Amino acid sequence: MDYIPYATQSIEDEDVAAVISALRSDWLTQGPAVPAFEESFARVHDVRHAFAVTNATAGLHLACLALGVEPGQTVWTSPISFVASANCARYCGANVDFVDIDPITRNMSVEALEVKLERAEIEGRLPSVVIPVHLTGLPCDMPRIFELSRRYGFKIIEDAAHAVGSQLYGKPVGSQYSDVAVFSFHPVKIITTGEGGIVVTQDDQIAERLRLLRSHGVTRDIATLANSGAGHGDWYYEQHVLGFNYRMTDLQAALGASQLGRLEELHSKREDLASRYQRLLTHLPVKLPIVADKAVCSWHLYVVELSNAPKVRDRAFVFAHMRRARIGVNVHYIPIHLQPYYRALGFHAGMFPNAEAYYEGALSLPLFPRLTHDQQDRVVSELERALVK
Ligand SMILES: *Cc1c(COP(=O)(O)O)cnc(C)c1O
Repeated sequence: MDYIPYATQSIEDEDVAAVISALRSDWLTQGPAVPAFEESFARVHDVRHAFAVTNATAGLHLACLALGVEPGQTVWTSPISFVASANCARYCGANVDFVDIDPITRNMSVEALEVKLERAEIEGRLPSVVIPVHLTGLPCDMPRIFELSRRYGFKIIEDAAHAVGSQLYGKPVGSQYSDVAVFSFHPVKIITTGEGGIVVTQDDQIAERLRLLRSHGVTRDIATLANSGAGHGDWYYEQHVLGFNYRMTDLQAALGASQLGRLEELHSKREDLASRYQRLLTHLPVKLPIVADKAVCSWHLYVVELSNAPKVRDRAFVFAHMRRARIGVNVHYIPIHLQPYYRALGFHAGMFPNAEAYYEGALSLPLFPRLTHDQQDRVVSELERALVK
C-alpha cells in the first residue's frame, strides 16, 4: 500500500518551468520575480502592500516589530496553533498570554477574549497586540475582534498561515479587520515556495516599516536619507533601524507566482475532498469540522475530534492504527502553553480547558490537492475500522 501523507505540495510542470526560467535569468535574488509575486499576491488578496519573506515565522516577527512590540508589552494569541504564533512576541522580548478557543470553531473564542479584556483593563495589563489564528483556514470572527480592538486599543496581526484563499463576507482574509496579516508558503500549506511567507497590510506607514525591517533596516530612498549631500554617489545607502535579512529569493517567488496562478484549481480540489469527508464520515462517532457560512475556508487541514467517552477507542489507539495502515494522520496542535518552554514561563495544564479538551481528541486526516478519491476512501474505511471494529 502506498503511504498517504497528511499533507504535501502540488508541483506541476508549469511550476518547474517557472523556477527553471528564474534560475536561468540574471537574478537569483532581488530580481524582478519577488516584486511581481508580491503584486499578484496583493491583487488576489485585495491588499495595498505585500512583502515576501523567508518564512511566515520571520513574517510574524516583522509584523510584531512593525507594530512596535517590545519588552514590557503583552501579546495574546490562541493556544491551539503552531508555536510560531506565540514565539514572534517572545523574539521582541514581550510577554505572551493566550485566549481559550471556541470548541465549535476551534479558533480563539471572542467571548473568552471579551471577558479577558474586561479583567485586563481593571488590572492594567491590556495586550498591545492580539494574534488571531485562522485554524485550518476557517476565518476567525474578525469583525467582533476588530470592534474589541477599537474599544481596548490593541492592534491585530492575523496569523493567516493556513488561510491563503480564505474569505470572510466575500473579501479575502487579511484585507480588512487587522493591521497586518501573515501567510505561509511552507510545502504543507495551500501554495508553496519551499520555505516562504508573505506579510500584508493596508497601512502605508506599517508598510514602510516592514520594508526597512525586512532588509537590514537599510534604505536607498533619497527622500528619507539623513545625509544625502555632498560626496555620496549611487553606492550610498543608510541603515536607519536594526533590521534583518528576511528576504525571499527570486527562485522562490517564481514558484510562488506560478502556484498562485493555480490557486483556484488547488482550492476547488481541497473543497471537493473536504465536502466528501463531511459526507463519508457522518455515520462515525467523531466530531467533524464546521462548514463556515458567510466565509470561505481554505481547508488547509481536515481535523476530526475523537470523543474520549468510555468504550470509544481513544486518539492514541486510532493514531497508531492509522499510521500502521500507512496513513499519515497527524495532530494539530499541542497546546502552546503546555510546551516546556512556555511552562517554564508559568503556564500549566488547566489554564485553557477548551484548548486542552480539543487536543485530547484532535486528529488531522490526509487532505491535499493530489489526494485521490480512492485514497480518501481508504482513509475513511481505516478510520472506521480503528474506531468501531
Ligand atoms: C506554518 C505555520 C506558521 C509558520 O510558518 P512558516 O512559514 O513555516 O514559518 C505560523 N503559524 C501557523 C498557524 C502555521 O501553521
